Amino acid sequence: MNATPSDQRRLLEVADLDTRIRKADAARRNPPQAERVQALIARRHELAQELTTRLGVRDDLRADLSRVESDVALVDARRTRDTERLASTSNVKEAQGLESELGSLARRKSDLEDAELEIMERLEAADSAVAEQEALIAETNAEGAALSAEAKRVVAEATTAFEGATRDRSAVAGIIAADLLAYYERVAARSSGAALLRRGTCEGCRMVLAGTDMQTVRLAAEDAVVTCPECGCILVRTEESGL
Ligand SMILES: [Zn+2]
Repeated sequence: MNATPSDQRRLLEVADLDTRIRKADAARRNPPQAERVQALIARRHELAQELTTRLGVRDDLRADLSRVESDVALVDARRTRDTERLASTSNVKEAQGLESELGSLARRKSDLEDAELEIMERLEAADSAVAEQEALIAETNAEGAALSAEAKRVVAEATTAFEGATRDRSAVAGIIAADLLAYYERVAARSSGAALLRRGTCEGCRMVLAGTDMQTVRLAAEDAVVTCPECGCILVRTEESGL
């Protein structure tokens, strides 16, 4: 393979643009925030399930409380009715019966009030548990929203970089001899494609060329395309090559 030294140098630009295109493509497909965003979505799902459980506990306690409150109202109505009847009756037996019933209604009311207090305490704890869970969800949502916005920005930037580098690459590739470009692309499939030989080192794989390899490169014609004996990429020679 032969190619003009200037075309060989252009390959360095193509290789650099190919690296930028690959990086930008990876960043736009999978921004660094994506993994954390996925983890937050899973976390929010777990938190929401727990919230449903906590809301269920609170609803049950609210139902218990209103049941006890209506029982209290029934007892109160019964006591009012019995008290009025007691005041108006002249029947001793009926009066005794009413007094006995008023006694048990008073005990019943006291029991109901104890139960009411206990439920109210539990309800207060259940309200706090719900509020705590809602705060965790809000926190998770806020972090997720911030990360999603950041990921969107990264994707937009990477897309711009990808499009710019792709445009630049076709401009440079367009002026390189077709056979050299085709050769580069074959080599690029399994190495960095083309790299500068800088002071005896291949910049594609960072290997220092052995003396005999350097001698081969030194003796090669200016328009000969030489490759790295280590990684196989096209070695581009410039005044920095140390030949
Ligand atoms: Zn190499």
